[in-house]
Amino acid sequence: KSPSIGGFRGRNKTFQTRSKLLPIIVMKIAFFSSKAYDRQFFQQANQSHQREMVFFDAQLNLDTAILAEDCPVICLFVNDQAPAPVLEKLAAQGTKLIALRSAGYNNVDLKTAADLGLKVVHVPSYSPHAVAEHTVGLILALNRKLYRAYNRVRDDNFSIEGLLGFDLYGTTVGVIGTGKIGLAFAQIMNGFGCHLLGYDAFPSDKFTAIGQARYVPLSELLAQSNIISLHCPLLPETHYLINTNTIAQMKPGVMLINTSRGHLIDTQAVIQGIKSHKIGFLGIDVYEEEGELFFTDHSDTIIQDDTFQLLQSFPNVMITAHQGFFTHNALQTIATTTLANIAEFEQNKPLTYQVMCPH
Ligand code: NAD
Repeated sequence: KSPSIGGFRGRNKTFQTRSKLLPIIVMKIAFFSSKAYDRQFFQQANQSHQREMVFFDAQLNLDTAILAEDCPVICLFVNDQAPAPVLEKLAAQGTKLIALRSAGYNNVDLKTAADLGLKVVHVPSYSPHAVAEHTVGLILALNRKLYRAYNRVRDDNFSIEGLLGFDLYGTTVGVIGTGKIGLAFAQIMNGFGCHLLGYDAFPSDKFTAIGQARYVPLSELLAQSNIISLHCPLLPETHYLINTNTIAQMKPGVMLINTSRGHLIDTQAVIQGIKSHKIGFLGIDVYEEEGELFFTDHSDTIIQDDTFQLLQSFPNVMITAHQGFFTHNALQTIATTTLANIAEFEQNKPLTYQVMCPH
């Protein structure tokens, strides 16, 4: 029978300290939305932990929460949904810890989690460079139309008409959210010789230390930037930050990039912006309804999301399916940090990366 310490069930293990052997509880972890690469990196990182892990393909929702029965720990990714009813079900089943293998935590109802005594941990920084570099990849691909160029050459069409781009050198880049990823992105764009404008609710000296970078009000950033890149979290105050009103303030032909969260952008307003030529380029790694689409192969099905399909049809739009984080380095850090977060919980230590309810 599984031992029980503090109400938690799990396999009993011992570990050596300087003076004595102490029992610890190794908790069973249920992974939702797991893919082959999650299994690979978590199994590698688990070699030193030897814990029981069960991997489910299913996204977490009210119907699938039952899969985590008897698992004190659940591990979630960005499109797993944990609103109040799901959390209540999980808590009733014995879940104690929600370990997010992501930086963002907008998919968890933190207030309900706190009320139910569920702790939430995340991985605040696994590789800001991974997302920043992918952001730059989108900019270069859109500007120089690499996606079209690649297909042309494969088709033995060596014409370069229609592939005209612009020098990034000397352009003005607006960075909305100058935290870890925004900062890494700004440093790269500084290397291209761009002028950097920043907007952040909590300005940082680290941003203004980069070349000639300076903070400006949002309206000035919108009006002055040739390229605008979003790196702030999804919060009630940033929901639809890009809307009809903010798009109207932008330069004609602006390049808009979002590698942060889909709901920062009102997609319908952006579609109108593209149709009116106000937005000259759109690069997104996230989409507000991505939960229905991303991380799954839908190539044999008829996509029902007309908005997404319309967006896809524009020649100046490039969409990637939330792969900004997807580097070897980042996956390794996500796995080791998540297992270290869980070990802290098991050992009743302070949780280094606990996500607290803001109220
Ligand atoms: P961070 O916390 O280091 O930085 C976020 C910055 O946004 C902070 O400087 C913060 O002050 C600022 N901010 C907060 N509220 C704001 C507001 N109202 N207006 C403007 N700025 C505001 O986070 P990070 O590690 O740089 O990550 C940024 C975001 O990137 C995450 O929230 C997540 O949504 C997204 N992300 C995407 C991927 C991907 O694969 N595409 C991977 C990781 C993270």
